Amino acid sequence: MSYLDLHLHTTHSDGSCTPSEVMHLAHAAGVTTVAITDHDITTGIPEATLTGQQLGIDVIPGIEISSSFRDSEFHLLGYFLDCRDAKLNDRLTILRKSRHSRNPQIIEHLRALGIEITYDEVRALAGTDSVGRPHIARMLMEKRVVASAREAFDRFLADGRPAYVPRHLPSPAEAILWIKEARGLAVLAHPTWIKATGDALIGLVRQLKVDGLDGIEAHYSSHTRRQTRDYLALARQFGLLATGGSDFHGLTKPDIKVGIGRGTLHIPASLAPKLKDAAARL
Ligand SMILES: [Zn+2]
Ligand SMILES: [Zn+2]
Repeated sequence: MSYLDLHLHTTHSDGSCTPSEVMHLAHAAGVTTVAITDHDITTGIPEATLTGQQLGIDVIPGIEISSSFRDSEFHLLGYFLDCRDAKLNDRLTILRKSRHSRNPQIIEHLRALGIEITYDEVRALAGTDSVGRPHIARMLMEKRVVASAREAFDRFLADGRPAYVPRHLPSPAEAILWIKEARGLAVLAHPTWIKATGDALIGLVRQLKVDGLDGIEAHYSSHTRRQTRDYLALARQFGLLATGGSDFHGLTKPDIKVGIGRGTLHIPASLAPKLKDAAARL
């Protein structure tokens, strides 16, 4: 049985494994096609592609762009996009800068709550300039302030919690446009994150389709069987591709494994040619 995993993070954003390490994990899991989808950055793709060639794994160039609408965060996955596109890279640079200015503010909030933490030590732990909240969560775990990343978010880092700092994000329509202008396919990641169900969800997907959406991430580590079935139906209803991925991050989400998520994920390799066909039609 061969598998696909189209949602993977590396040390180039907030994952704890290098692109090469992720590829070796994919190989061990029997994954034949992957997409590296780091947050707002594509620099991990060349290393993954090189290791993929050695291991016989196809690497689809990808990205995950954060966007927001009303009180929901929408993450848009981009596939097959041109990572050298100048306009895309300018836009991503601005987005990353806004994240960088946010992290020191989060640290200040934590310090005001009496927690001994510095931005320098979080950056050292991340081993990359692309620091995200999961790195801060890991630092809080190392300091034994919290027992898990989830607790760090629930107590301090999530929207509405005392160390939360809002961030200016593009709208979903803008994120889709950025992906399309870089000649990529735009896919709505982990649709359960959207605070909408039933007709409200259908209305949002209809609008996203108008904005240029190509697919929905129907297979996802935390989806129940029923949710997967519902998202597959939603994708069919709007003529969208149904994609899937684990959202592997390594140590920050230790229960999620490449290819199999929490053990039950199975994304059929037959999805890969459909995606390639759609990309060829762009
Ligand atoms: Zn996401
Ligand atoms: Zn992700």
